[in-house]
Amino acid sequence: MSNFWQSTPVSQLKGVGAATAPKLQRLGLRNLQDLLFHLPSRYQDRTHITPIGATEPFNEALIQGTIEISSVVFRKRRSLICRLSDGTGAIQLRFFHFSAAQQKQLSKGALIRCFGEVRLTSAGKEIAHPEYQILKSADAPVEKSLTAIYPTTEGVSQHLLRKLTDQALRLLGGAHPIKELIPQEVIDNYQWPTLAQALQLTHRPPPEANVTQLLQGSHPAQRRLALEELLAHHVSLLGIRQRIKSDKAPALNTAESRAESFLKQLPFYPTNAQQRVVSEILKDLKQPHPMLRLVQGDVGSGKTLVAALAALRAIDCGFQVALMAPTEILAEQHYQHFSEWFDTLAISTSWLSGKVKGKARSTTLNDIASGEATMIIGTHALFQEDVVYQRLGLVIIDEQHRFGVHQRLSLKDKGAKQGITPHQLIMTATPIPRTLAMSAYADLDTSVIDELPPGRKPVTTVVIDNQRRDQVVARVQNACQENKQVYWVCTLIEESEALQCQAAEDAAKLLSEQLPGISVGLIHGRMKPQEKTAVMTEFQQGSLQLLVATTVIEVGVNVPNASVMVIENPERLGLAQLHQLRGRVGRGANASFCVLLYQNPLSQQGKARLEIMRATNDGFEIAEKDLELRGPGEVLGTRQTGDIGFRIADLMRDEDLLETLKPLAERILTNHAELVEPLISRWLGENNAYAQV
Ligand code: ADP
Ligand code: MG
Repeated sequence: MSNFWQSTPVSQLKGVGAATAPKLQRLGLRNLQDLLFHLPSRYQDRTHITPIGATEPFNEALIQGTIEISSVVFRKRRSLICRLSDGTGAIQLRFFHFSAAQQKQLSKGALIRCFGEVRLTSAGKEIAHPEYQILKSADAPVEKSLTAIYPTTEGVSQHLLRKLTDQALRLLGGAHPIKELIPQEVIDNYQWPTLAQALQLTHRPPPEANVTQLLQGSHPAQRRLALEELLAHHVSLLGIRQRIKSDKAPALNTAESRAESFLKQLPFYPTNAQQRVVSEILKDLKQPHPMLRLVQGDVGSGKTLVAALAALRAIDCGFQVALMAPTEILAEQHYQHFSEWFDTLAISTSWLSGKVKGKARSTTLNDIASGEATMIIGTHALFQEDVVYQRLGLVIIDEQHRFGVHQRLSLKDKGAKQGITPHQLIMTATPIPRTLAMSAYADLDTSVIDELPPGRKPVTTVVIDNQRRDQVVARVQNACQENKQVYWVCTLIEESEALQCQAAEDAAKLLSEQLPGISVGLIHGRMKPQEKTAVMTEFQQGSLQLLVATTVIEVGVNVPNASVMVIENPERLGLAQLHQLRGRVGRGANASFCVLLYQNPLSQQGKARLEIMRATNDGFEIAEKDLELRGPGEVLGTRQTGDIGFRIADLMRDEDLLETLKPLAERILTNHAELVEPLISRWLGENNAYAQV
């Protein structure tokens, strides 16, 4: 009977035709259970009218007023602009698509009610494309309860989702009970509602439900569902871990280690933290089962060296190592370091990226297949199907947060030929807050490099409005006159590398004009590798004083005399990335500064984020705060892939549930294995990575 929900396809519902079903499928909605658990991502509050004067930028509001002016303007695009006023203030409404009939409706004197997000423009407050309704009387009733907003995709309207969930919810009260998967005593203990009640309330909050709790996601109904969702994720990750851990891996142990001679050629000795982490890794590598280890270490903590020592162990035992980085630049940096380090030990280092084509590619592929290539470095290309390894013993992934769980799991296959699974070492510079580590990374063991190499200095950070750019330029001039070197970083504009490079070119030109007598260099991602190297060398040697750069300098650049960094439009970047960038200064004898030159207006959240950068240099603290503000999907960069895109759980908000979660997950795995599959299929769907391992 409990099967009813899973075995009834959505196409049985009214309103789902041949055209709609595939669209719903794209949202993961195949059966009634999928629909019931397609929970609102948020709520809109249309339960009261906000006076226009009290509306706030970046917030949604329901407003009501009289149209004072209505006119069609032609600027970049033809648009209809209305000015709406209610006595407390006025706001502009902007429509890009409108019919003649709408234009007539929205004419001077019309009384309307509308809903939308308030923005701030040069003309003041504005709502673009509000939902609106022409009123006959000013006291038309407002909504009695919160409006559920569902995650959706093109061609599936909120209206349709509401209609379908309504039908599913009606069935919920009928002959088909839905199976509770959380033990009754846990529910009793928290005094939570039943599953059916929780679903009903979350989809359709009744007027008497606590609005504040619902908006925060802390309503008992939401928490009950959140725990179940967290449980599903946790159990599935532990399941993956169990399965991988039971695979065979080469036990990497040898008396013939070249680690000592490798370390001797370095100009420094590993820190205590590096040594400790390396010994944790070597202990794992000795086991006949795959290592699954995450190394966390702040920017500049020296993860590369740790990776090199792990790689050396595998190579000393006669195995190949693949090191994958998320970007071409980062991979290239590793390639440079490893070739330099390993050349003296007569270990061959190979390079493979998507850009390696033709003959070079087939040569490299042959070397990898024959075992000629031992240390192999590159991008995602390393794990494409046509790459066949001879004896892959260890996979190292740098900057894990940019890869999803899926990609991590696909590595497993690369050793499959010999019936072995390679060891996995994952390194991340985005310190992963404890709460997140516990759930998103429950399948990994963790090591932390909690110490920076000696000689690093904290960087003083200031946050300055772009209107005061002249003062910043003057400050740069002073610094250069004192023989200091300066980075000027231009950030990404709308994900376009081309535009970012253009912005850097423009900035370099402007700064050269504004700073006569100061040598200004330029580096960006569209330059040839030799050009980039030439510019970096000039900066390194001090013949360039000011280096205008795109975020290409985010990683690996080491110029100790550079002690000032200006970042334009820092609000466009994630905090982890800002932290990475800032890590380029503070490496020499001079006191270092970082200027965050932001563009007004900045949202509340934008301000709060820059304030965090000002307040601390501690990568862990930054990550914790970033997570609080933006949520784990954004911080880990996996929102698009949906890897840990929770439907209702929120790791920060629901942190206290983690205590219940861990023992509960273990109990289910040991005593109630029959609940595992229903949990996973309910919350993670049938086509998830977890199910496929
Ligand atoms: P990250 O952890 O950010 O990847 P890197 O591995 O790139 O850091 O190391 C940052 C810098 O610190 C590099 O220039 C590296 O050579 C240097 N470094 C690494 N370990 C040590 C050490 N033990 N002592 C001094 N410098 C070190
Ligand atoms: Mg690194």
